[in-house]
Amino acid sequence: MTLPAHSPEPAAAHAETVEDFKHNLASIKARIEAAARKAGRDPESVRLLPVSKTVPEERLRLAVEAGMDFLGENKVQEASRKAEALADIPELKFSVIGNLQTNKAKFVAKFAHEFQALDNVRQAAALQRRLEAEDRQLDVFVQVNTSAEESKFGLPPEAVQEFVDQLPQFDRLHVKGLMTLALFSDDKEAVRACFVRLRELRDLLRTTAPEGMVIEELSMGMSGDFELAIAEGATVVRVGQGIFGARALPDSHYWPGFAGDKPAAE
Ligand SMILES: *Cc1c(COP(=O)(O)O)cnc(C)c1O
Repeated sequence: MTLPAHSPEPAAAHAETVEDFKHNLASIKARIEAAARKAGRDPESVRLLPVSKTVPEERLRLAVEAGMDFLGENKVQEASRKAEALADIPELKFSVIGNLQTNKAKFVAKFAHEFQALDNVRQAAALQRRLEAEDRQLDVFVQVNTSAEESKFGLPPEAVQEFVDQLPQFDRLHVKGLMTLALFSDDKEAVRACFVRLRELRDLLRTTAPEGMVIEELSMGMSGDFELAIAEGATVVRVGQGIFGARALPDSHYWPGFAGDKPAAE
C-alpha cells in the first residue's frame, strides 16, 4: 500500500461493540502481518499495543472481550483510574507511554506493567523507590527524541548511551528497548529517518550497553505510520485510532505544541 505517512485517514470507524473491536483488531493485525512479511520479518516479532487513551471504561470492557489484554495509555492519572475501575479483569495489563512527572511515579509503580517514556535519572530513581515500596518490577523503554523537535519528550540520541550507563543501579527497572514518536509530517522520508535513527541507535547499544542489559525492542509507529515503522524494524507498534476510532481530544492535549491538529472527529 502506498498511503503517505500520517495518512489523513488513519482512524477506524468508531468501535462500539465487541464485533466492531474484533473487526478493527483483525484488520490492523492483517496489516501488521503484511508489512512484516514484506520486510522479510516474522510477523510474530511485532507486538501490537492498542492505545486506549480517551476511551471510557465501558468500551474497554468490550475491547478486552475482543481479545485485547495489554493497553497503552498516555496519561498516568487516566491510566490509574482505568486500572482501578477494571481491576476485576485479572489478565488486563497497562503500559504507560506518555511523559511522566517525577511526583507521579508512585502511580505507575502501583499498577503499570510497562513504562515507555523513561528519559531522566530522577524519574528512574523515583520509580525505583516506589517499586521497592510496592515490591513490584517494571519493564521500561528509554524514550528518544529522533525528530529534534523541541515539543517532543525524550533524550536526544547522543545522550542515550550515558543515560543507559546509569540504569543498572535501578534493579526494579528492566530495560527492554527504545521508544520514539516520529516527526508529524506527510514527508514519508522524514518520518522514515526517525525510525532509522532509533534502529541504528539500538544496533549500537547492542554492543555498548552495560553488562547484562539487553536493549532489543523498538517501540515506534502509530496508526498513521506503523507499516513504515515495521519496515524499519519496529517490534512494538502503538495503535490507537486505527482500533478505537478517531479521538475527540486533539493531539495537542498529549503533545503540547503539536501543530498538526486537525479538527476533532467523533
Ligand atoms: C496516542 C498515542 C499513540 C497512538 O496514536 P494513534 O494515532 O491513535 O494511533 C502512540 N503513541 C503515543 C505516545 C500516544 O500518546
